[in-house]
Amino acid sequence: MQPTGDVHLGNYLGALRNWVSGQHTCDAFHGIVDLHALTVTERPGVLGETTMSLAAMFFAIGLDPDVSTVFVQSHVPEHSQLGWMMECTVSYGELSRMTQFKDKTAKRENQFIAAGLFTYPALQAGDILLYDANEVPVGDDQRQHIEITRDIAIRFNHRFGDTFVLPEAVTPAAGARVMSLQDPTSKMSKSDDSDAGCVFLIDDPKVVMKKFKRAVTDSDTGPDAVRYDRENKPGVANLLEINAAVTGRTPASVADDYTQYGALKVDTGEAVLAALDPIRERYYELLDDPGELSRLLRVGAEKAREVASVTLKRAQTNVGMLPA
Ligand code: AMP
Repeated sequence: MQPTGDVHLGNYLGALRNWVSGQHTCDAFHGIVDLHALTVTERPGVLGETTMSLAAMFFAIGLDPDVSTVFVQSHVPEHSQLGWMMECTVSYGELSRMTQFKDKTAKRENQFIAAGLFTYPALQAGDILLYDANEVPVGDDQRQHIEITRDIAIRFNHRFGDTFVLPEAVTPAAGARVMSLQDPTSKMSKSDDSDAGCVFLIDDPKVVMKKFKRAVTDSDTGPDAVRYDRENKPGVANLLEINAAVTGRTPASVADDYTQYGALKVDTGEAVLAALDPIRERYYELLDDPGELSRLLRVGAEKAREVASVTLKRAQTNVGMLPA
């Protein structure tokens, strides 16, 4: 995950929460990808701070440094090294078809667009392949990136012999695509024009409740006004999905409990807060001890390099590069 902007409910339900539940059954690697953040970094002195904040958030949500490897991408130079090899294994045409590039550049019309914004799926492929990852726990919007990673790995393996494990995207049953509370036809995103549709994990509880109370629903009333219908009632469906994700139910069964939008909004806000309150508290405690956070990140980088260096070497050897 990139250290740009605060972590929001979409990130949490789509990805982070599943990293925590998966850490005891999988050999988990989670990178804070500061090299990716360079694609949109134009001011000095900010990136280190946002990297520390994201590290605090990773541990606050429950990643355990004793079982999960949490590290900063630039502390593991193998990412840059394999990233270039991946850039040489993906085609211009493949990168041109990435919908995130189209979306991101559309939002930056008349602004500087770094070439890295175009090539970053190659660096991301390296991020994944370095760890022989079988599964990549992501939100729905990342599926295309995991697909291109597989395509790159298949091409590399075909050209140079068996080198990389082919990864698969793993998305959660509920919360894989959390939508904006103000525009439920577009995904919740930190780059939204207004903050009102995006619930941040460190939002004040009052702010969280306000955002839910103002969530866009519908104008029709009646006994079945609250029903799970993504196509025709996207705002209501989004609230039902969020509620289901945090309470461990299904959206349709949550809908059965309600006839009015107001009650659904309030209860969903409260259910979300029950999950976020302890996270926010831990986050501030952890942020108070930057020395300990830095130590944990150093340990993580060492563990990550042990694996990444072996994979990079294998790739270089299989290509036939002259050993240093
Ligand atoms: P990002 O910071 O946008 O790169 O996202 C980090 C992780 O959060 C990725 O795994 C995304 O798939 C996931 N994610 C981002 N936005 C959402 C959303 N609105 N709903 C569900 N998952 C999301």
